[in-house]
Formats: sequence, C-alpha cells, structure tokens
Amino acid sequence: MSRGEFALIERHFRRATAGRDDVALGIGDDAAILRVPAGHDLAVSIDTLNEGVHFAAGVAGRDLGHKALAVGLSDLAAMGADPAWATLALSLPSVDEAWLDAFVDGLSSLAGEHGVALVGGDTTRGPLSATLQIHGLVPPGRALRRGGARPGDQVFVTGTLGDAGLALELRREGREVPALGRRLDRPDPRIREGRALRGIATAAIDVSDGLVADLGHILTASGVGGRIELAALPFSEAFREAVVGRADEAVWVLATAAGDDYELCFTVPPAQLEALDAIVRGWDVPVTRIGEIVAGCGLQLLRPDGGVYRPGRAGYDHFA
Ligand code: ADP
Ligand code: MG
Repeated sequence: MSRGEFALIERHFRRATAGRDDVALGIGDDAAILRVPAGHDLAVSIDTLNEGVHFAAGVAGRDLGHKALAVGLSDLAAMGADPAWATLALSLPSVDEAWLDAFVDGLSSLAGEHGVALVGGDTTRGPLSATLQIHGLVPPGRALRRGGARPGDQVFVTGTLGDAGLALELRREGREVPALGRRLDRPDPRIREGRALRGIATAAIDVSDGLVADLGHILTASGVGGRIELAALPFSEAFREAVVGRADEAVWVLATAAGDDYELCFTVPPAQLEALDAIVRGWDVPVTRIGEIVAGCGLQLLRPDGGVYRPGRAGYDHFA
C-alpha cells in the first residue's frame, strides 16, 4: 500500500471506530478480529451505492456516508438484529480531503447513534462507489425473516411511504422540498423498532425497492397472498402537500413502487396485536395497518372504492 493510501486511512477512517469490547482488533492490520458474544448469531448484509445509479454526481459526502451505513442498518432492522460492526470498501476517483471528512462525519455520526464500530475496509481508485458490509447480533432462532407470514396476519408499515421517491422526482425537475429531500438523503434505519418486533412479527422486510416489490418478497417466501388497502397508506404532510392535484394513481405509484423508503413492512398475527399495541406506544415513528395476509398467492391492491388497482411497475430492478 502506498504512503498516500495509508495516510488517508489513518486520517479519515480510524476516527470512525467506536469503542466496542467485542472488537479485539480493528482498523490497521490485515484483518479485523471480532468476538461474537456467546449466545448470539451473526447477521451479515452488504450493499453497494454507485454514482449515477444510487446517488447523483456531486453528492454531499455527509449524505453518502450516512446512507451507506443507513441502508445496511435497515437490513439489520428488518432482521431484528442489533448492529455491531461494519467494513467499508470505498472507490474514489480522486482524493478530496474535505469531501472525505464529510463522508466519515456522516458515517460516524450514524454509527455512534447505533453503537457500530467501523473495523476495516478497502480504499481504491475508481468511479465513486461505497460498499458497506454490516454485521449484527441476534439470539439464535429469534431473527425476523421473510418467510413466516400466515393467512390472517395483519400487515403493517412504519413511518410514511413515497417521500424519498417524490424527493428524487422533484429534484430531477430542479425542485427541492427539504422535508422530502432529507428522507431521500438521510434515511433513518428502524433498528429499535425491528428489535422490538422480535417475537411479535411473523415476517419482516425493509422497504428499499418499493412496497409492492418488497411485500411481494414476504408473500413469496411465506407462500401466501396479501391484500393492501391503498386508502390506508401512510403519507407525510410534506408528501400530501407536494402531490396536491395529482391523480390517485400517480400518488399510489410513488407510495408503492418508487422505493428508497427504508421503512419496515411486517406481519403480525391476531394473537400478537395487543403486544404490538403496547410496544408501539413508546415509538417516535408511527405504525400503520395497511392490509392483511390471505391464503393463495400474489398481492392485491384495493382502491378506496373497493376496486382493484393494477400497478404498471412493481419496483426498482437494476437489470429490468
Ligand atoms: P491490505 O493491503 O493488507 O489489505 P489495506 O491497505 O487494504 O491493507 O488496509 C489497511 C488497513 O486499513 C486495514 O486494516 C483495512 O481494513 C483498513 N482500511 C482500508 N480502507 C478502509 C476504509 N475505507 N474504511 C475502513 N478501514 C479501511
Ligand atoms: Mg486490503
């Protein structure tokens, strides 16, 4: 490794290493040494953010640093796992110290919030791209999965849908609504909520590609069907204001297929509804019942008039 590369790592990445007793060896050696605490399974997930695909050229370092970690944390939230460690493979076209500082600021402030230690990575020259692997801990057999939904379970979603998709659309037209832009640039992973759903939810997923696609994964994995009431979809005030005058269908597409929501969609059996009620009372984020699981297969979207809405597009697909 060159002196320049070494100095870069020392200067920027070392400070993102939060103190955790289970990190026997962090950044600086050929590999990190991590101690999985007794009585825990390791939950691992990796995501790449590429310029021109996941974010636009000229992205603020702070936003990309935040989002690289947030999308990984969102996966752990959907598993009900507690975040622990991250590794980061960063590809940079050139070294911009101020931008890198901001990137590490964004990453480490979210890491600090969730007790995540950056324990290693790789820094190379190339098109701007960030790949982050997140490691979480979960008691054996307690992780939330996609495959446990059963007919009669109720379908819920945290937060609001469509904000990020709308922000992206407006931004492409040169319009910026700060409350929506924040949802796109700095998603808030639902770690606390996912963890609390252990033992209550039968299935869970984080909504990254859009509700129809992601709830669809739960239905397929569980071998069941689902029904969503479009009138029940939760929208933010900023979203409602910005879509005034649009046709219902245009609003539903944003809410169910635009993606980048990073909310949790989960299913709860009738016997656990009271337990859910009790835990959500303490949450900052709203939880909304949007439908139910039925026997069969496929997802039906019900219009407010009771008719069926057939979406033209299911969600974001890189290779479609
Ligand atoms: P090696 O050549 O032995 O693989 P590297 O030069 O890739 O070592 O990295 C040196 C040390 O710096 C390693 O501990 C590695 O994990 C860490 N590191 C490199 N890049 C990053 C990064 N972007 N974020 C965090 N740690 C990094
Ligand atoms: Mg290496």
